[in-house]
Amino acid sequence: MNDVLQQPISEIKGVGEKLQSHLNELGLFTVEDLLFYFPHRYDSYEVKPLTELDHNEKATIEGEIVSEPVVSYYGRKKSRLTFTLQVEHFAVKAVMFNRAFAKKQLQQGDTVTVTGKWDQQRLQVTVSQFKKGESKSQAPIQPVYTLKEGVNMNTLRKVMTAAFGEYGGSVKEILPEDLALAYKLPPRREALQQMHYPENRVMLKHAKRRFVYEEFLIFQLKMQLLRKHNRESTHGIVQRYDNQKLTGFVQSLPFELTGAQKRSLAEILKDMKRPHRMNRLLQGDVGSGKTAVAAIALYASITAGYQGALMVPTEILAEQHYQSLSAMFEGRARVELLTGSIKGKKRQEILEAVKAEEIDILVGTHALIQDEVLFSHLGFVIVDEQHRFGVEQRRTLRDKGLSPDVLFMTATPIPRTLAITAFGDMDVSVIDEMPAGRKPVETYWVKGEMTDRVLNFIKKEIDQGHQAYVICPLIEESDQLDIQNAIDLYHQLSSVFEPDISVGLMHGRLHNDEKEEVMKEFADNHLNILVSTTVVEVGVNVPNATMMVIYDAQRFGLSQLHQLRGRVGRGSDQSYCILLADPKGDVGKERMRIMTETNDGFELSEQDLKLRGPGDFFGKKQSGLPEFKVGDMVHDYRALETARKDAAEMIEEDVLDQHESYSSLKEVVYKDKQIMENVLD
Ligand code: ADP
Ligand code: MG
Repeated sequence: MNDVLQQPISEIKGVGEKLQSHLNELGLFTVEDLLFYFPHRYDSYEVKPLTELDHNEKATIEGEIVSEPVVSYYGRKKSRLTFTLQVEHFAVKAVMFNRAFAKKQLQQGDTVTVTGKWDQQRLQVTVSQFKKGESKSQAPIQPVYTLKEGVNMNTLRKVMTAAFGEYGGSVKEILPEDLALAYKLPPRREALQQMHYPENRVMLKHAKRRFVYEEFLIFQLKMQLLRKHNRESTHGIVQRYDNQKLTGFVQSLPFELTGAQKRSLAEILKDMKRPHRMNRLLQGDVGSGKTAVAAIALYASITAGYQGALMVPTEILAEQHYQSLSAMFEGRARVELLTGSIKGKKRQEILEAVKAEEIDILVGTHALIQDEVLFSHLGFVIVDEQHRFGVEQRRTLRDKGLSPDVLFMTATPIPRTLAITAFGDMDVSVIDEMPAGRKPVETYWVKGEMTDRVLNFIKKEIDQGHQAYVICPLIEESDQLDIQNAIDLYHQLSSVFEPDISVGLMHGRLHNDEKEEVMKEFADNHLNILVSTTVVEVGVNVPNATMMVIYDAQRFGLSQLHQLRGRVGRGSDQSYCILLADPKGDVGKERMRIMTETNDGFELSEQDLKLRGPGDFFGKKQSGLPEFKVGDMVHDYRALETARKDAAEMIEEDVLDQHESYSSLKEVVYKDKQIMENVLD
């Protein structure tokens, strides 16, 4: 867009080849990259009155040296330089370690500004930096940049100053004037200057506010643009489903749909009828009836003459879905299962049947859309736990010449702020109502020393014919240790309970058929207790299980605990969730408290987000979340909301294309390669 700013960073005075390559490593290639490389924090050298300082705070104070500085040596080559400062009407002791050389520069009667750790009790400052003269002589707020080897803070500041001096003037405004005016945002160039050379806290705050909004707005504009494109594109399939058959099917279900299910279903069906590709997220708490809605939608697609696919993260889950869908669709549609462990002749048979359109619904893991699977008429794809399905897979489908409607399902209620950032390009349906008659799971937090009583409780439940899950402690980062843990716990519980009560074991290293076997044993009530790692977390359904005991619960995040808890409370009997936990920190305690207080997945997810931050929310694997440079989607969620609304309006009213004052903004938005690819495909 702006040629001067797009020049390589080596154009900046003082940037030689070596520095250039170091800066490149920081992701800085152009002059613009550098100018918009913002500090990650600011150090304050503002002088505050002594009475306002906190103990141990890093403080800057200014005073007159009233005693001759003295150096004393101790240990091998260690020194301590001390002097007394008159600050306001206090005598403050200043101590400097291993900088005996400074003695020459400091004399009684000098005014100095020192920065260091403040000891309130002793009125003492351990000086890390000092400057002769009054504090006015130095910038009160200093930017601190993230650095890499080869680039130190001084170098970066120097380069920044050179760049700013030479090119700062070329930074152009991109927000239309009325918008900047409405939000009282400082002009772009000024704001940029404040980011790197803040004059004071207030101006810095406004500068940040501006860039947060700008960043969110651009992001949201891209998202909304994609969404609009999806809505308007006619590349999708028009699915003319058979209303009568569909109604018949819904009536055949053993329950009445909840209001939220009906609403979501209507939204999905509406998408299916339209010629655009559906790109919808269906979210709802565990057990809220998402699968039921998905099944109905799948059936609709079949009556329209298409095939459907249901993709889930694990084989166990695929198995279960396969079984429940087969039962639901008996006499109406042919459902098959395709996973990695189905091989040889059976696999060939299924593949051919899919191709020949003899199979209506294929259930399986990721392999469904990637391998040699060729659908003849794929019209509808459901992806469970959407965050494990990315842009790549969508592209795979597109490359196969398929443009099915896609419905993503997630049982992790996604906090609103994350939903609008991570899934801003999607339409969202929410099932926020539980089927009637469910008894909320009663949750208790119990300290580890009470384990015996918990075991008694399990026994009592089992005596009543119920079953229990026992989830073993999670050891961070080690699948292997988790499994060992599960095995140990299994032996321990076996010795306590057997032979009257049977205990089973499940973990990720079991072969699929072994897992299936164990799960089936448990589902058939041949096992009373199932000791498991978190593999049991997703989707498994055993209504007779009324107890969920989670060892070392403090190690799990709220969302995960909630998922685990969702394994019980699926039948008509009262269920219990026992959290065995001795959390050390406040966050852990807070988590346990929240778990005992609410069963509402959405509330939990909001809390989880607050406690853990957005990065951790979806787990370590692949968050799918955008990274923002200045904005923080939790802290700045209001700005995010505002930006979203503004972006929606701008796209709706098509101002980017029609108004001259939006042309710079438009340029920035369209600069994104992926946007272009998607919009122009
Ligand atoms: P989710 O996929 O959201 O976890 P499911 O669709 O598997 O939920 O539903 C959980 C259980 O509730 C299933 O046994 C299902 O048959 C049942 N169910 C679904 N919808 C309703 C409803 N409206 N009323 C009663 N039971 C329902
Ligand atoms: Mg459609």
